[in-house]
Amino acid sequence: MAAISLQQVRKFYDNGFHAVRDFSLDIGDGEFVVFVGPSGCGKSTTLRMIAGLEDISDGLLRIGGTVVNDMEPKQRDIAMVFQSYALYPHMTVRQNMGFALRLDGVPKAAIAERVDEAARMLQLDHLLERRPKELSGGQRQRVALGRAIVRKPQAFLMDEPLSNLDAKLRVEMRASILKLHRQLGVTTVYVTHDQVEAMTMGDRIVVMKGGEIQQVASPMELYDRPVNVFVGGFIGSPAMSFLEGELRGGSVAGDGYTVRLPAGMAARLAAWPGRAVKLGVRPEIFSLDPTAGEALNAVVDVVEPLGAETIVSLRVGSGSVVARLDGHVKLVPEQPATLYLDAERLHVFDAASEANIG
Ligand code: ATP
Repeated sequence: MAAISLQQVRKFYDNGFHAVRDFSLDIGDGEFVVFVGPSGCGKSTTLRMIAGLEDISDGLLRIGGTVVNDMEPKQRDIAMVFQSYALYPHMTVRQNMGFALRLDGVPKAAIAERVDEAARMLQLDHLLERRPKELSGGQRQRVALGRAIVRKPQAFLMDEPLSNLDAKLRVEMRASILKLHRQLGVTTVYVTHDQVEAMTMGDRIVVMKGGEIQQVASPMELYDRPVNVFVGGFIGSPAMSFLEGELRGGSVAGDGYTVRLPAGMAARLAAWPGRAVKLGVRPEIFSLDPTAGEALNAVVDVVEPLGAETIVSLRVGSGSVVARLDGHVKLVPEQPATLYLDAERLHVFDAASEANIG
């Protein structure tokens, strides 16, 4: 096991494209860190630099305290798990899992022992003599994980390993990977574009955009204290809504609404009267109960009943919000509705810099 440290790491591709800018991060020994961000934000490039599959243009990469910038992938003692399982079709599960060990010259008996142990952990023991084509997608992905585990590496690097699985299997495999991490305690870096996967799996999450880290924090910290509009909007489902407005003596006022801010927040923002802001509202801070807080007059747009809850999109002046309400609410599209919101849970972002200033 090993800590991984990136210090001002950058990546310029040959065409001059700056894919990763000044990436600095210390990943603790045994930590499970998730890189998340939209397509093209540089998360795979960063992972591939850690793996040694991509040259580092600038900065320092340390694994277990050793600078490994110029070290071959093989020497880095890490195991990578990809989206495509890349199993050898003509080999059995046992042979696939033991293949890397065989290449390394590990004695046969030791290979068998390690493969059996990994197979037990992954509940593959009864499938060891099958070939990949005789397995389901989830089982294949387990074999790919097994192949990584048997090597007993210092770290696991996983690049969207669950993307090829259907939704139900993804949830199951998420749990399997986390259990494995608890059992083995191996430092893991996991790349995904799925914020739910990031939230449920990471000890810490690194949110990236345009080759840059936006925020590094625990899942709930990210949710409760997003540093900017991007993180606020990216983490959470349904997403945070934003209403444009301006600061006006302890309130935020915009087209069709005025919301009084809690005293502490109002005091923090008192220095900027008239400042253009974006009010960040999460779906769950709304209620139809008039005692629940600040009133917001809206017009119902779309009503999506999900059983336990109903997701409602509404127009507020020229803006819009999404509310998560009780499963049995009776709201009708195109009819007016008054929502009440818990102002303590609002976020105020500066409209120009998009930084969280509330
Ligand atoms: P995705 O989720 O789509 O895989 P990502 O966040 O993992 O996205 P990367 O694959 O790291 O993104 O790519 C980051 C940026 O670098 C993208 O804009 C991509 O087009 C660019 N890029 C990737 N590989 C190369 C390359 N070999 N040459 C030039 N540009 C590249």
